[in-house]
Amino acid sequence: MSELSESRASRDRQLVVHHEDPASPLRWRVGDVEVVRVEESVIEMSPRYLLPDLSQELLDSCGEWVSPFFAEEGQMLLSIHSFVVFSGDNTVVVDTCIAEHTQRRLPGDSGFGERLAAAIPGGLDAVDFVVCTHMHFDHVGWNTERVGGEWVPTFPSARYLVSEDELSGTRADDSMEVMESSIDPLVECGVLDAVDSDHRIDDNLCLVPSAGHSPGHVCVMIESAGERALITGDSFHSPVQFALPEISASYADFDSMAAGATRRRLIDRLVDSSTLVLGSHFAPPTSGRVRSGPETAWFDVG
Ligand SMILES: [Zn+2]
Repeated sequence: MSELSESRASRDRQLVVHHEDPASPLRWRVGDVEVVRVEESVIEMSPRYLLPDLSQELLDSCGEWVSPFFAEEGQMLLSIHSFVVFSGDNTVVVDTCIAEHTQRRLPGDSGFGERLAAAIPGGLDAVDFVVCTHMHFDHVGWNTERVGGEWVPTFPSARYLVSEDELSGTRADDSMEVMESSIDPLVECGVLDAVDSDHRIDDNLCLVPSAGHSPGHVCVMIESAGERALITGDSFHSPVQFALPEISASYADFDSMAAGATRRRLIDRLVDSSTLVLGSHFAPPTSGRVRSGPETAWFDVG
């Protein structure tokens, strides 16, 4: 292999780079609500797989604040994790990662279920709601598990929430092949609720319409005791999109123009506010606030 093709091969690979220490997952407090990040994996990949218009030159133009989210040679660090939200009496899991049993196009991890159960007092039985920000394979994989040849809900006591628009849109075009294993079994068990895109889950939690990446994509807003946090879903795949909202996950987007408009609308809402941003694909430290800069917005981690 020539030097050039060798370096291209190494840039093109997808590599699971680490699992966090399950004994000390990242956690945040938002008023009286607690949020815990449970990691399935962090995948090092070329931006060309997900953000194909993100050139090294554009990345270099952003500044040092992007460094936690990229490895050498501009390789992107794509984190796959769930957020567990403890809100009053409710335990809510936001997105369920990939799962190795579903054999998706990115690697899942068989140990994730145990790590998730360990992060929840009472284990998976104690989960009241599972929110799918959207129905792509890396957000619904652990919705179900295979038991005795059948797909059954992984969270036996939970109602699963997806937006009506997401459900109908995915029924019309199931290009990621999630319906049979990850959605239809929930419908058959009567545990899936198709809700409005601004559905309120409880006093502290509501969905935020953010279509574009998918037909009925939602974010999750946490508001408690005067504090706020936004779980992004895939409205943003990387904090670099706060500075460069025109950079889209164009291969995976349902509607890249709408996805870009959604990002601009969310940035307007977040910039220089006190709202903590919890990125659904942001590698550790995963959280921060959107600040205005001389030319573009940027992400102030922490
Ligand atoms: Zn995703």
